[in-house]
Amino acid sequence: MSGTPLARRGLMLILSSPSGTGKTTLSRMLLQDRSLHLTLSVSVTTRARRPSEADGVHYHFIDKARFDAMAAAGDLLEWAQVHDNFYGTPRSLVEKELSLGHDVLFDIDYQGTQQVKRRAGKDVVTIFLLPPSMSELKARLQRRAEDSPAVIATRLANARQEMQRWRDYDYVLVNEDIDATFRQLQAIIAAERLRIARSAAAVELKVAALLAEVSA
Ligand code: 5GP
Repeated sequence: MSGTPLARRGLMLILSSPSGTGKTTLSRMLLQDRSLHLTLSVSVTTRARRPSEADGVHYHFIDKARFDAMAAAGDLLEWAQVHDNFYGTPRSLVEKELSLGHDVLFDIDYQGTQQVKRRAGKDVVTIFLLPPSMSELKARLQRRAEDSPAVIATRLANARQEMQRWRDYDYVLVNEDIDATFRQLQAIIAAERLRIARSAAAVELKVAALLAEVSA
């Protein structure tokens, strides 16, 4: 990194994809890259916990009554029914992180993406991941071996619907090679952070300071 970065508003980075496209792995790689300083928005869900998941880390696992209460109280920034379960983004963490100028990563579907875009507009960057092929998607879902054949079938059918939403996104990446896709994500984040719309006030101050400097 060269020079002092200009102060800017926090970015809301949304990653969406059909399940099995590698989004969870890529999210983890982004969060583990300390130089990116990203905070994950941990969603609430009524879905049953998978063996590999931890409560409070991958999701906050809650029942439908609690979910409904949070939605009714306005505690969810967005929410949607995906497959047969409910998922939502708790508002409080996101608002706190953004107010500190931090960037927040969301792993949410296209329905949630639309809601966040409507509410937060310019500070939202949306990325959609596609699998290299449908046969590879099926193989990945089967390799994961955490869902029943019926659940896998539902997810494959939903993938066909979800993929048709690609036009709603700022960027579409085909996740053929996880490391190559990761590098593309790093490049998107770097470029989006530099957009002047997010740091116009700081740029204005910088230019004023430059103009006020005694000429060399
Ligand atoms: P999974 O059950 O495989 O973890 O997630 C299923 C889908 O729900 C994924 O496409 C994921 O992006 C989406 N999802 C997870 N959390 C949220 C959320 O808080 N809101 C919305 N709208 N979708 C979510």
